Amino acid sequence: MNSHSNQTDFDYAVIGAGYAGVSIAALLQKDGRKVALFDSHSTIGGCAGYYKRKKFFFDAGATTFSAMAPHEPVGKVFSLLNIKPNLIRLDPGMIILLNDKELIRYSNPDQWMESTTNFFQNSQKSQESFWKHMDVLNRRAFEFLDIPNFLPIRSLNDIFHSLNIKNLNYLSLIPSLFRSLKSYLNPSLVSDELFYRFLTEQLMITTQTGPEHAPLLTSAMGLSYPSSTYYPIGGMSKPALKILEKFQNDGGLFLKRTQIRNISHDNQIYKLESDSNSFLSKGIVSTLPIWNMKNITDGKIQAYYTRFTKKYPQGPAAFTVYFGVQTKIELKTCYYQIHLREKIPFTSAGAIFVSFSHPDDLEKAPEGFRTVTISIHTESEYFLRISKEEYQKRKEEVKLAILKEFDFHFPDLASEEKLFLEAGTPSTFEDYTGRMEGRVGGIAHSVRPSLLSLFPNRLPFPKFYQGGDTAFPGQGIPAVLQGSLQIYRNINYYDN
Ligand SMILES: Cc1cc2nc3c(=O)[nH]c(=O)nc-3n(C[C@H](O)[C@H](O)[C@H](O)COP(=O)(O)OP(=O)(O)OC[C@H]3O[C@@H](n4cnc5c(N)ncnc54)[C@H](O)[C@@H]3O)c2cc1C
Repeated sequence: MNSHSNQTDFDYAVIGAGYAGVSIAALLQKDGRKVALFDSHSTIGGCAGYYKRKKFFFDAGATTFSAMAPHEPVGKVFSLLNIKPNLIRLDPGMIILLNDKELIRYSNPDQWMESTTNFFQNSQKSQESFWKHMDVLNRRAFEFLDIPNFLPIRSLNDIFHSLNIKNLNYLSLIPSLFRSLKSYLNPSLVSDELFYRFLTEQLMITTQTGPEHAPLLTSAMGLSYPSSTYYPIGGMSKPALKILEKFQNDGGLFLKRTQIRNISHDNQIYKLESDSNSFLSKGIVSTLPIWNMKNITDGKIQAYYTRFTKKYPQGPAAFTVYFGVQTKIELKTCYYQIHLREKIPFTSAGAIFVSFSHPDDLEKAPEGFRTVTISIHTESEYFLRISKEEYQKRKEEVKLAILKEFDFHFPDLASEEKLFLEAGTPSTFEDYTGRMEGRVGGIAHSVRPSLLSLFPNRLPFPKFYQGGDTAFPGQGIPAVLQGSLQIYRNINYYDN
């Protein structure tokens, strides 16, 4: 039976308790607003969620933290909420296994320069200037995002408020949003096949596309991210749980197992409906993918979402493999990107990403054991709308191909039993996160259509905002939290 909630109206209803939802809910609640946070699942975290098998905690999707400096989005959100997540800074932040050799991504720029110039012999002379320029662009981009602005511009007010002297200093960054990384590379870097493969797979992790399409500016941010990588003790969901705790301690209402099925707008009030309840709110912050939103809204709001989903009809998906393993072997880091020796069918990238739990992290695995999460890009269509038999066949084929690659690159672990071995497909992610067709990769960055034409954080409806990884400025936890900061800024400016 559908009954109206006994709760009085909320100032904001935040839909989805992934990193986008918990962060924006906690930011709004800390200032004394009345906020409700809804999630259809029984646990929080979404794509950065977890599941448990006996004494093992497995990260379901995301495994790495970055952008933790005080002026960077993740560091900034934690500092605004006065939360200290339990993180270990990893150095090296990542190891790339390419043509059976190790490329070590050190944090220290001089060590990294030595590493990369030795590795990419065919473009040795161009490496230093390339990485120096990436570093400058990355720093300036984060400095710019730290200044109050209202991108993408939607009104004269936005222009007026964004045009302060500090922002003008960053006008020179604009062209780098409209040119691809490839168009910037000098010929020796493009013709160095090994380097180009490395760039392509590194960019797939963040911009979700290769150097031909990825804008120079966000490429610089994506390529710089492994220089500052953090491992969260207990798993990716632990910092999110701390944010949720802060939200609830400040008086916020978290409604789990509450799937929002419809949102309508009447007389300045939004009505949200779940299977068994309805709720009234003055404002909405959705963090669901825009494809989902089209299906749970109506009228002008639905038309608005439909327009954007036509422009961005698809999004990347993931295939994952999980297991626990007993080992005392010392690894140089927890994160490995492994370039494949041959393409794996029903996937769409040339590398797998392997994440080990830290040996000191006894919250994730018992002493002497480690958890392993492996992921690769795929397309939803490979795993949806096929027969059960074909689905199982494809799932097994991809899982075995991934394990073969893992065993080849970690021969010391190959003979160990793989405990609680499981695989996740777009269909698994659709069930776990509720995201349409299991599209978990947000929207790929691109020069055309440009980032400025992505879905905005502020919609042209009263107190209606869109966060998460399908809205400007893009996917990945740093980007998602940057979006939450932009929404917070907008609400403080426009809705107070
Ligand atoms: C395999 C994989 C690896 C990744 N690795 C990394 C990484 O290492 N580092 C990194 O920074 N990023 C990584 N990412 C990306 C990162 O996980 C996402 O960008 C980020 O977690 C998205 O957060 P979100 O809040 O936007 O969405 P989500 O995490 O998808 O959260 C949406 C929430 O909404 C809920 N929901 C859905 N429908 C409804 C409804 N109708 N009503 C109520 N609730 C609903 C879901 O249960 C979910 O909790 C990875 C992603 C994947 C899939």
